[in-house]
Amino acid sequence: MEDRFDIAIIGSGPAGLSAAINAKIRNKKIIVFGSRDLSNKLLKAPKINNYLGFYDISGVELKEKFKQHIDHLGIEITYERINNVYAMGDYFALMVNDKMYEATALVLATGMESSKLLKGEEEFLGKGVGYCATCDAPLYKGKVVTIIGYNREAEEEANYVNELAGKLYYIPMYRKDMKLDQNIEIVNDIPVEVVGEDHVQSLKTKKGELTTDAIFVLKDSISPAQLVPGLAIENEHIKVDRNMSTNLKGCFAAGDCVGRPYQYIKAAGEGLIAGQSAVAYVDSQKNK
Ligand SMILES: Cc1cc2nc3c(=O)[nH]c(=O)nc-3n(C[C@H](O)[C@H](O)[C@H](O)COP(=O)(O)OP(=O)(O)OC[C@H]3O[C@@H](n4cnc5c(N)ncnc54)[C@H](O)[C@@H]3O)c2cc1C
Repeated sequence: MEDRFDIAIIGSGPAGLSAAINAKIRNKKIIVFGSRDLSNKLLKAPKINNYLGFYDISGVELKEKFKQHIDHLGIEITYERINNVYAMGDYFALMVNDKMYEATALVLATGMESSKLLKGEEEFLGKGVGYCATCDAPLYKGKVVTIIGYNREAEEEANYVNELAGKLYYIPMYRKDMKLDQNIEIVNDIPVEVVGEDHVQSLKTKKGELTTDAIFVLKDSISPAQLVPGLAIENEHIKVDRNMSTNLKGCFAAGDCVGRPYQYIKAAGEGLIAGQSAVAYVDSQKNK
């Protein structure tokens, strides 16, 4: 296929960007999915003293250095959230709502989500609980929808869903100026439990309870097992070998998502290996 990428990289933190620069330098056609801020975890770090070559740097400053580096190499980030990846044999299909991207090799660099699941979240997954509000919005036309948003991207989803939903509650799990449509009701509370019988009926919060038909939990990343069906997981992390290969042919992983310690330079080092392994895999496929 004409539009097929050599390597798709999911994640724009240090692991994903390191994979990206190493693949780009080797002249591969790449696409990097991620966020405008590169990584929320970079923004949050007040002082970093263990990234070799950058003593006493803030996360925001390191983010700027990363941004300058990828700009120099002409690498752009595609600001889209991948909902599902399917291994099709000799390529991967990456889904963003109803849009699809194809790539010969895949690098997963999605980071780790530290927040725990809500009580009842797993039980009601697919029965009113979801992780992609825009995908499922048509199901809830005219109904009451609650979005628990962990980042700024969630606001864009909320504004879109608001056009269809009868009523939208937005629970921000961060402190930031929010750009939300006026009729969205912001609930400054802590979600605790999803309640229902066959389907979601309400969301219990610390201070009360919201009656709702759907609850969307929009975090920086979803669990890799949900993202890529068939991916082998070991103790919450993606299982990899020393080449950063997963159990799926052509699929590599790097950074926090493959295990501890959760550190920038470890993520970048693993990203380098994953990027180079993906390049070698693409070359081996071309020379078949
Ligand atoms: C407050 C704080 C301070 C820290 N201080 C330090 C420190 O001083 N030194 C140190 O070494 N480490 C520190 N860390 C740890 C460091 O932030 C992480 O180890 C590092 O960010 C991991 O990089 P990563 O690339 O694996 O993942 P992340 O940086 O988490 O990046 C993951 C990226 O993937 C994207 N993503 C996930 N899923 C999808 C999807 N489905 N579609 C599209 N994009 C997706 C996310 O949006 C994000 O951009 C700190 C962390 C925190 C929270």
